[in-house]
Amino acid sequence: MKISVNTKKMAVIGDPIGHSMSPFMHNTVIEANGFDAVYFPFHVKEGEVEDFCKAAKTLGFSGFNATMPHKQVLLDLVDEIDPEAKEYASINTVKITEEGKLIGYNTDVRGLLMAFEDRGVKLSGAKIMIIGAGGVAGALVKGCGQVGAGSVTVLNRTFEKAAAICDGLSYASAMEQTPENMRKIAEGADVIVNCTSLGMHGVGSDFADLSFLDSSQALLCDLIYNPWETKFLAYGRERGLATMNGMAMLIYQGLLAFEKFMDVKLDCRAEYERLLPLCEAKLKG
Ligand code: NAP
Repeated sequence: MKISVNTKKMAVIGDPIGHSMSPFMHNTVIEANGFDAVYFPFHVKEGEVEDFCKAAKTLGFSGFNATMPHKQVLLDLVDEIDPEAKEYASINTVKITEEGKLIGYNTDVRGLLMAFEDRGVKLSGAKIMIIGAGGVAGALVKGCGQVGAGSVTVLNRTFEKAAAICDGLSYASAMEQTPENMRKIAEGADVIVNCTSLGMHGVGSDFADLSFLDSSQALLCDLIYNPWETKFLAYGRERGLATMNGMAMLIYQGLLAFEKFMDVKLDCRAEYERLLPLCEAKLKG
């Protein structure tokens, strides 16, 4: 790799950040396509994001991605917010223009929608069950509305959060996360998305009971990709359900961000095909 003053600089910030696959993914795309660019991971703690934004501007970064816990605070720190990011109230991609203007985008939801499209899953008219009501769930509920989902039901440990993200959306309803409700909604769902951190590597808590899936025919999607197959996905697969983990979403959201940073158009499908086995090997290795 040759670094010069013209080399484009990009980054991901988060706390923690060591687990992030983004540097591997982005640097693979850079190398494979011969771009003059480099992508760094930076451990930026809560309260340090404003300083990071100033530093990134001063150092001439082309942009950066943000992961937990910075996706909301950036809404107050950027100069301009793309309408989708505004609607989702979450920024995971910040482009820095040559004039030093910070523009916030959200590529998470579009990344997940591209992952569904890849699998031939049609969300238009579909009955979608969402488990969890955190930042990504809230954005996904709105994304489901944009693609014309038939209905969206959100079940969360803290009911009030589910109710808040469904508020004012005619196609979405919130339910308490009781075993009975889980079973009832799973039975009629076309797609079930786990938007909780249950089952994630290092988190330590997992679904205590997955029998709500026993009479479901839905496609199961877990936003988690580490482990590659969560207990939620394994349980469904063993019962013959189609499953997908969060890696396709991660790859597609990253490719969409890369296009913004670099002002290029990628063949996202081809890049995805290249990245998927490499990311799987890296995670499992
Ligand atoms: P978040 O805002 O922290 O929300 C976490 C959700 O998990 C909340 O609904 C929370 O319920 C629920 N939860 C946590 N512990 C629980 C427990 N012990 N029992 C029941 N529910 C529990 O997280 P987020 O940013 O939306 O992210 C959600 C998931 O998506 C994470 O696993 C994250 O890694 C993943 N993700 C994947 C990608 C990708 O590219 N694949 C991108 C972004 C995020 P309460 O509301 O009751 O606390």
